[in-house]
Parts: sequence; C-alpha cells; structure tokens
Amino acid sequence: MLSGAADLISERRNVLAALMGIGVGKNRLEALGDVEESSDLIRYYCHQMEDHDGFSVPMNRLSPAEATFDVMRPYGVWAVISPFNFPMALAAGPVGAALIAGNTVVLKPSNQGALLGLELARALADAGLPAGACHVVTGSGPEAGAALVAHPGVDGITFTGSYEVGMGIQRRFATRWPKPAICEMGGKNPVVISRHADLDAAAEGVMRSAFGFGGQKCSAASRVYVERPVVDDFVDLLVSRTEEIAIGDPLDRGTYLVPVIDRAAVTRYQEAVAEAAVSGVVHTGGRVITDGDLGRGNFVAPTVVTADPSSWLWRRELFVPLVAVAPVDSIHQGIDRANDTEYGLTAGFFSEDPAEVDRFLERIEAGVVYVNRRIGATTGAWPAVQPFGGWKGSGTAGKAGGGPYYVTQYLGEQSRTIVGG
Ligand code: NAD
Repeated sequence: MLSGAADLISERRNVLAALMGIGVGKNRLEALGDVEESSDLIRYYCHQMEDHDGFSVPMNRLSPAEATFDVMRPYGVWAVISPFNFPMALAAGPVGAALIAGNTVVLKPSNQGALLGLELARALADAGLPAGACHVVTGSGPEAGAALVAHPGVDGITFTGSYEVGMGIQRRFATRWPKPAICEMGGKNPVVISRHADLDAAAEGVMRSAFGFGGQKCSAASRVYVERPVVDDFVDLLVSRTEEIAIGDPLDRGTYLVPVIDRAAVTRYQEAVAEAAVSGVVHTGGRVITDGDLGRGNFVAPTVVTADPSSWLWRRELFVPLVAVAPVDSIHQGIDRANDTEYGLTAGFFSEDPAEVDRFLERIEAGVVYVNRRIGATTGAWPAVQPFGGWKGSGTAGKAGGGPYYVTQYLGEQSRTIVGG
C-alpha cells in the first residue's frame, strides 16, 4: 500500500507541485523536487523494512529448550508535526516511516502548505490504506499542534520545525513515562572556503544554497568563512552571481528566487539588513521589492553582506535570502567559527587540498556535510543518497531521514524467549 501511495504521488507530481507553488511559493523545479522526494522517502523506508525482513532477528540460545527472537514492534499512535518549507516531503517522510513500522498516524501540517498534507493523506487512502490509519488535523501550532503534543493517547512524535518549538516539545512530551520524540530543528549552516578552493564552484554553490527557496530551507547556507587572501575575489564572484538571479512568480518557468513566506519574514529580512548596515557592509540586495507586480507580494532582493564577528547575524536563523561572509586567517579558524553555534545541521567546504578536506571532515560538527559541491554548498540532500539529520540543537535523533537507521526509530524492541519453542 505504501509503495502504491508513493507511485500515486509521483503520478500526481505536476498537480501537487502546482499546489505547492501556489501555497508556499516554491519554484517549479524545487516544488517538483519536494514531491518526488516525498515518494522516494516512502519507497526507501519500504525497502528498509523489506531488506531487513521486518527487523525480526533469531538470537542465540542459552539452552536447547528455549528460543529467543528479537522483534521490533510499533509504538501505537504516532503524531507528525510538519513545517511549511517542505510541505510534502517533511510530512511524507515521517508519516511513511511511522506507517511502514506499523503505527497509526495523526499528521498536523503547517497551516502554510496544509493542502499538501491533505493530498498526502488522499494518496495513502487511494492506495488502500485503511480509514483511520492516517488522520490529518489542520490548525495552528499553538492550538492543534500543542493539543497533539499534550494528548495522552499519542505514543511517539516527529516534529520538524523551529528550534524554539522543537525544544519545547522535547521537554513537554514525556508524561507518565518517557516517549520517543524525534525533533528535527533549525540550522545556521556554514561554508568554509580555503585559499586552495575553486572559487567559481564555491560562489555558485553558496549562491544556490543561500537563495534556493529564498533561504527558507533548514539547510540554507547563511554563514561563509573565507580565507583572507581570497575573500575579496570570492565576494565579487558571489555578488555577480547573485545579481543574475531571476526573481518572480514561482509558477513562471524562469523564476529562481521566490517571495518569502509572510510579512513576518519580510520584517526579519529588514531587521537583518539594518544590522548588516550598522555592523558591516551590504554588498548587494538589501531592499524589499516594491515595484510592479512583485510589489504586491513578499519579494525581497537576494542579499550578500559582510558583518562583524560580534553581530547576531552569525547566530540567529533568519530564513530569508541573506548570506553573511567573513574573512578568516586559516581553515582552522574557519572551522572553529563554523562550529561556534548551537546548531549542527549541514555544512560545506571548498578546497582542492585533500589534507584540508580530511581536517574539515574530522572537525566539523554537522550531520550533513558536503565538499566542493557546486550544485549546492549546504543544500540538496536526497533520500537514500544523503541521509539528512542534525547534530546539537538541529536534531534530537542522531539518526537521519532517508538513511539506513531511520525507520527503527518508529519501533520498540521486544526480546521474546519461549521455553520449549
Ligand atoms: P515552526 O516551528 O513555526 O512550525 C513547525 C510546525 O510546528 C507547524 O506545523 C506549526 O504549526 C507547529 N507548531 C508551532 N507551534 C507549535 C506548538 N507550540 N506546539 C506544537 N506545534 C507547534 O516552523 P516553520 O516556520 O513551519 O518551519 C521553519 C523551521 O523549520 C526552520 O527553523 C527550519 O530550519 C526548520 N526545519 C528543519 C528541518 C530539519 O530537517 N531539521 C527541515 C525543515 C525545516
């Protein structure tokens, strides 16, 4: 049934992607990617379950008279609370994993993009999932979401969203006994660029990761630390690439940069630009777009700034198209500053020197790392290709979505010894 639902989602990709463009303003390519990622996540979890034979393992015997099986059992009712920025994939991933593990699910999608949560449930129902195995509850976070978190009938939860809400859920969810709470939270994702880097690849990789979906990805690149001898050349390349970005209607074929999600995001952008103007330099962008048709939406210009190390721009997750660049004296200092955050989701590195690459991989504190990746310095994970999960304040699980250890989180282990069995 679940692979059938995955196939239905793929078949419906154009309609679902259009709904996403209209609902949250994702551009065509990224909306199609979000839909396909949803079906690939479900398929991957199905394969995990099949490949491991339901995670049922015969164990050793202490005597010939007894036999022990180790089995993995569903918890019961699993709540899924999903964010606006991947309205299909971040609902479908946890919902698919919880269901394939044998739980039933109550999904509370973000109000922004909630239609995609409903469409996910429709695909599951159309594929034959019994009524009642997957419910969708729409509503606001503080009301519908909080009620779900507090409900005694919920046995496990997967939350994906901001650090503040996720940490609150982590603290509140346990009641009479501990219950599994997977919280995937924000990011403040760094890129470190060596003097031995291909600067052209680095500039393109940063541009794509900073401005894809308007910087509204948990994996968006927001901090860039560049070795001092090449920082000016890097900023020039990044600014010229940024100024070529096509801004427009998400449904238009040529659009790359889309509007931010709401007025609150526009205000956050304005505050960040004002801070950059005081504590550094705004190299390009820095304005809300008010002309023509775009003036009727939440369009802001993609922005590159340099800022003083003491600025809050280096610490707060902004979720807008603004990236900060700073010079560093060495790769070590770059990695130190990259790690100087409560977050640990994704990170990128550019260098042609293999010894430097090893050093970065050894020291970086992030769950998903990319080296020399032109198509996205910190973004663009795919199920079964790049498992996706955060360290530190970016995630509680230590097990990544779309990776080999994900599904088992939705199962509790039971060791069964039968005498005479
Ligand atoms: P958000 O935290 O505002 O909301 C996420 C979900 O939680 C929504 O469904 C919302 O209605 C609900 N919610 C809000 N308050 C709640 C409460 N008190 N109790 C229960 N539920 C509540 O996040 P958002 O703005 O939708 O999404 C953006 C955030 O998500 C960013 O911080 C981003 O980094 C993060 N994110 C993380 C990942 C990841 O994999 N780590 C992926 C995508 C997004």
